[in-house]
Amino acid sequence: MTRRVLLIEDNEQNRYLATFLLERHGYRVSAAPDGAAGLVAATAELPDDILLDIQLPAMDGYAVARALRSVPALAQTPIIAVTSYAMVGDRERSLEAGCTGYIEKPIDPEHFVHTVERLSGWPRTEPQAG
Ligand code: MN
Repeated sequence: MTRRVLLIEDNEQNRYLATFLLERHGYRVSAAPDGAAGLVAATAELPDDILLDIQLPAMDGYAVARALRSVPALAQTPIIAVTSYAMVGDRERSLEAGCTGYIEKPIDPEHFVHTVERLSGWPRTEPQAG
């Protein structure tokens, strides 16, 4: 079965890149541009994995992570924080807020999908042709 990833990210370029990389490995990706939309999408779709930008407008990623974890059906879903390298303390705060792990921005196209797979406990896949 195709694994589904929900991307909660306000930056269109990051959404595009992450979606491109994940789809190339056969994942199905949906996206939300802010925390409120992300919570609605996560609750409706129950994705297999959530990639969560920490720097979001209105509701930051920590608040979104806590809200996601308060939904019983999402209690075990891997939530991977995507944090800026420069933001010291983001990692610890994101783990405290309930995230499973974190990936640093800028997204490294070479390692991004394999890092998502490792943090989610999924088998490693290679890009598909075409
Ligand atoms: Mn952002």
